[in-house]
Amino acid sequence: MMRNSLARTDLAFVLHPQTDPALLEVEGPMILDHGNGVFVTDSSGRTYLEGMSSLWCAALGFNEPRLARAAAEQIARLGTYHTFNRRSNPAVIDLAERLVALSPMPDGKAIFANSGSEAVDTMIKLAWLYHSGRGAPERRKIISRRRAYHGSTVLGATLSGIPSMRGAFAWPDPGVLFAEAPHFYTGGKAGESEEEFADRLVGDIAAMIEAEGAQSIAAMIAEPVMGAGGVILPPASYFPKLAALLRGHGILLLSDEVICGFGRTGEWFGCQAFGFRPDMMSVAKALSSGYQPIGATLLSAEVHEVVRAEASRLGVLGHGFTYAGHPVTSAVALETLKIYEEMDLLARVRALAPAFRAHVGALASHPLVGDARAVGLIGAVELVADRATRRPFAASDGVGTRLIALALEQGLILRNLGDTIAICPPLVIAPAELDLLFTRLRQALDALSDTLAAIPQE
Ligand code: PMP
Repeated sequence: MMRNSLARTDLAFVLHPQTDPALLEVEGPMILDHGNGVFVTDSSGRTYLEGMSSLWCAALGFNEPRLARAAAEQIARLGTYHTFNRRSNPAVIDLAERLVALSPMPDGKAIFANSGSEAVDTMIKLAWLYHSGRGAPERRKIISRRRAYHGSTVLGATLSGIPSMRGAFAWPDPGVLFAEAPHFYTGGKAGESEEEFADRLVGDIAAMIEAEGAQSIAAMIAEPVMGAGGVILPPASYFPKLAALLRGHGILLLSDEVICGFGRTGEWFGCQAFGFRPDMMSVAKALSSGYQPIGATLLSAEVHEVVRAEASRLGVLGHGFTYAGHPVTSAVALETLKIYEEMDLLARVRALAPAFRAHVGALASHPLVGDARAVGLIGAVELVADRATRRPFAASDGVGTRLIALALEQGLILRNLGDTIAICPPLVIAPAELDLLFTRLRQALDALSDTLAAIPQE
C-alpha cells in the first residue's frame, strides 16, 4: 500500500489506543483532516458520513463555528487557570449553573474533570467520602456489571466488564462485584418475559448484596444504555426496581451518563429516559460536543451535604485535576449547552427518533441481523450466524470488523462492538442524511452477506 508521509510518521511515532498494532501496520492510520456538519474527510480526500459522532460525542457535528469562537475568545481573555484553593473563573461558574439547572438534581453541585474516566473516578472517590462522612468507612465495594464500560484509568479498567479492557489493566482484588448485563436478547431465558428477566436480574443483585453484606457496599455504577458493551437497552422496569433495592440498603446509585447525557436518548439524561433518580452522575463527551476534553460529576444535594461536611472536617477535599474547570474547556461547554437550548435539542431528537427507530427496525429482517434496537438517536444491530437459535458468529470470524470495513467502503463510519454495530450519529443530522446513513449501512450488510455466502458455514 502506498503511504503518504503523514501516515509513515504516524506509524513511526504514535501508539494508538484501542487499536490492533499489527493491523495498523498493515492498513495504516486513517487520518481525518476536516469536518463539515455530519461528514468528515480523510487525508486522501475521501468523505464519510460519521455515524458514530466520533466516539459518541460530536452532537453538533464537526465544525461548529460558535464553538471555535468561544474557544478563541476565552484563550484571548484568560487562556488557563485552575480551580484549586478557591480559584474560579466566569466560564466555569456559568457552566456549572447551567449544567446543574439542566440536570435532574437542580439543587445539587458539579465538580469538573477532563474526561469521562476522570468523572467516573471522581464519582467513586466521592461515594467513599460520603460513606466515610456518614460513619461507614467500611462501605468500599462497588457493584458494576458485565459488559460495563466506565473508562480507561486503572479504576475504569477495574470497573469494566469487558474482558479486553481488563486483561493486564484491572487492579487485582479491588472489591468490585459484577452483576449481569440487562441484555434480554442474549440473557433472557426461554419463555421469560422482559419484565420477568428484569425481576430475575434485580433479584440476583439483591442476593449478591445479601451475600456480601450491604454494610460493605458503597455504590452501584451503571450506564443507562450500556454503550461500549454493545448498546444494551434495559427492560423498562429494570432501573426503577434496582433503584428501590439499592436505596433500601443505603447503597448509592451512580449513573454513568457519559454517552447518554445531553439528549442522546430523547431526554436530557439517560436516567430520565429509564426512570430512576441517581445519587450522582458522570457526564462528558456531548457536554462540549467533544470539542474540548471535559467531564463532570454531579452530586445530589443530599450527597453534597455529607461530602461538604466531611471535606471540611478533613480540612480539604483532597481530590482534583489541574485542568478541572479550565476556562477554555468550560467556555466551549457553556456555548455547547447554549446551542442545545437555543436549537431545542430535545424536540429535535424526539422529532427524529421515530424515523431512526423505523430505520433500525427495518434492518431487523436482514438475514444477518438477530436483534435491532434503538432509543432516541442511539441504536444497534446485532449480527448473528443463526437468527432462529440466536447463535453468534465465532469471534475469529471477525464479522463485525468486516461489516465496519465494508461500511467504510460505502462512505460510512460506524463502530463494531464485537458483532454488534453501534449507530450514534450527530444530533444535528438532517432527515435526508439519516436516510443516507441507513442506505449505506444496508449496502454494507448486503455486501457482507455476499462475502459470507462465499464461505461454507458449518
Ligand atoms: N463511561 C462511559 C459510559 C463511556 O462510554 C466512556 C467513554 N466511551 C467513559 C466512561 C470514559 O470516557 P473518556 O474516554 O472520556 O475517559
